[in-house]
Amino acid sequence: MKYYSTNKQAPDASLEEAVVKGLAADKGLFMPYSIKPLPQDFYDSIDTLSFQEIAYRVADAFFGEDVPAETLKQIVYDTLNFDVPLVKVTEDIYSLELFHGPTLAFKDVGGRFMARLLGYFIRKEGKKQVNVLVATSGDTGSAVANGFLGVEGIHVYVLYPKGKVSEIQEKQFTTLGQNITALEIDGTFDDCQALVKSAFMDKELNEHLQLTSANSINVARFLPQAFYYFYAYAQLKKLGKANDAVICVPSGNFGNITAGLFGKRMGLPVKRFIAANNRNDIFYQYLQTGVYTPRPSIATIANAMDVGDPSNFARVLDLYGGSHAAISAEISGTTYTNEQIAETMRETWKECHYLLDPHGACGFRALKEGLKPGETGVFLETAHPAKFLETVEGIIGETVEIPAKLKAFMQGEKQSLSMTKEFADFKSYLLSL
Ligand SMILES: *Cc1c(COP(=O)(O)O)cnc(C)c1O
Repeated sequence: MKYYSTNKQAPDASLEEAVVKGLAADKGLFMPYSIKPLPQDFYDSIDTLSFQEIAYRVADAFFGEDVPAETLKQIVYDTLNFDVPLVKVTEDIYSLELFHGPTLAFKDVGGRFMARLLGYFIRKEGKKQVNVLVATSGDTGSAVANGFLGVEGIHVYVLYPKGKVSEIQEKQFTTLGQNITALEIDGTFDDCQALVKSAFMDKELNEHLQLTSANSINVARFLPQAFYYFYAYAQLKKLGKANDAVICVPSGNFGNITAGLFGKRMGLPVKRFIAANNRNDIFYQYLQTGVYTPRPSIATIANAMDVGDPSNFARVLDLYGGSHAAISAEISGTTYTNEQIAETMRETWKECHYLLDPHGACGFRALKEGLKPGETGVFLETAHPAKFLETVEGIIGETVEIPAKLKAFMQGEKQSLSMTKEFADFKSYLLSL
């Protein structure tokens, strides 16, 4: 399948080009030329299929023309070596728990899939080592590093700001070893991102090394997120609750929800979507006014959603032909303050004995306030609450049990290379490899 750029100024790309480049030459986001509806018999029998079987059918619709069936199946099955259970919270609200993967957040799905797809392209082309550069303020680095861990032919460099990520987050990408190198930059997240950008633009570096990004706008990270929307529907159907399903997605860069909108375009019977925002309510404001006004982000307790210019907004616009009316017919929005998020976490813990993380709390609250009679709500619980230990414990006033996977990271030994924020230093390091 061919991919076009949302800015329509760059040549079409193959899947391989889109995955290796990440962003189109005109700075647009890649979109697949067709979003194929899946046949009715698939939806009729979806509740008899496993998560992996469902995901493979979805993956085949996007990647089947470009990747041999057995290889694609292997990639999907390897990626999804953990469950995504649908857990009842109230009579009509369910949590889709996306935190059972290696780093306890939904970004594991895209990170693992992209690593395996890129690994396939490298083997196929007999390419020398590919170097993935990723700047992180926390969670992206861990999902990408763990996704690529041990994948042959790829080395990952994670750039992160010294002293500005939590200890739990840092441990998740500095303790891995093998093909993962953590670079601790004496600067901010923006400095890290600037170093990565400069590296991609540097002619000399690109002549010596094959560089690629694992940004969340990459189609190989973005599209696989559609898998679990189908699986959520399958689980609802099993419960006899699949009519009038409403899916609510705690949103920052809008990659996650956009994958769900692609699912709906493939025929997935979701009645409507809700995008839950924290105080960074750029999309919410767009829905109200029809005008998109990016702003600098504000720090909140749901910090993975602190985004002032959601990168996937371009994909949402493109998907609906730029029509505000079409977008607001399928998606509504909400926005919550830190106080509202904390209140929701406290009440839900007390009344339902379900511990929300600050991101999932936005999703749950939006359903609690916005479900109409007869509707069943599913919110995406995007990370495990223990990933935000101090915040969560401070809010509920109790200690939170840390899952074994997180504990194992915390016991590992940090290994990182210190570096200044000067591009000359980063460049000479890369050239010396
Ligand atoms: C990345 C992230 C989000 C936001 O997802 P987008 O795809 O950027 O909208 C929400 N919650 C958590 C825990 C995240 O890590």
